[in-house]
Amino acid sequence: MKTFTSIREWQTWRAAVHATPVGFVPTMGTLHQGHLSLVKASREQNVLTIVSVFINPKQFDDSADFNAYPNDFRKDLERLRKAGVDAVFLPDAAQIYADDYRFKVTESDFSQRLCGAHRPGHFDSVLTVVMRLLNLVRPDNAYFGEKDYQQLQLIRDMASAFFMPVNIVACATVREADGQAMSSRNQRLDAGSRAKAASLYATLKQSRSANEARKVLATQGFDVDYVEDIAGRRLAAARLGNTRLIDNVEI
Ligand code: AMP
Repeated sequence: MKTFTSIREWQTWRAAVHATPVGFVPTMGTLHQGHLSLVKASREQNVLTIVSVFINPKQFDDSADFNAYPNDFRKDLERLRKAGVDAVFLPDAAQIYADDYRFKVTESDFSQRLCGAHRPGHFDSVLTVVMRLLNLVRPDNAYFGEKDYQQLQLIRDMASAFFMPVNIVACATVREADGQAMSSRNQRLDAGSRAKAASLYATLKQSRSANEARKVLATQGFDVDYVEDIAGRRLAAARLGNTRLIDNVEI
């Protein structure tokens, strides 16, 4: 497995790769089975699988959240090697934002709703980094999780709007045995909150309406940002202490 921290070295290697199709899984590290399911799908559908690990500082709401975001690059590389990944791209922020962030992707409609209403600017930061990574990696297929459903839709729409030569592939949410969506942020929950967290998924599934789900979650001690039904899906974000959890189910 090749690893690259320098964008210049990455570009030299990438230019010499003529294998096709190439699959790409962008991540922020602290990898779990959710990420590895994307890697598996990519390996099944491509001759080469590339993973990026980049904790994008621009998409965090505040520096405390960024500083608290877990990272363990050594363990991540070990997992990716075992998963059969061909190349890992680990650029740093200075290289990714060599333009001092003068250039951004802006979306002015769906990105303002749901999570975007509670995290101003978040999705523009996500779209900007995904655009930069897709331009660097130039994959045929790029894999994203349905766990981050609004993000997935926005990335799909961006790829379509800019006529980007990439196929965006959606992968189902991987869950723990109790139904809780796997997330790097789960590590930040104490035992009591972790036990409670699973009822986010159960409540979204079992409630007859978004309104009912909102009420049930509030009773259970969640600080609910939103629960909304959109186009056959129920999407929600809710906080337990300092940890913000998101999930969505088909309805
Ligand atoms: P992250 O490292 O959190 O930025 O996630 C990287 C990619 O993995 C994104 O496309 C996520 O949607 C996806 N992902 C994260 N958690 C899960 C999960 N539990 N199931 C499926 N995909 C996931």
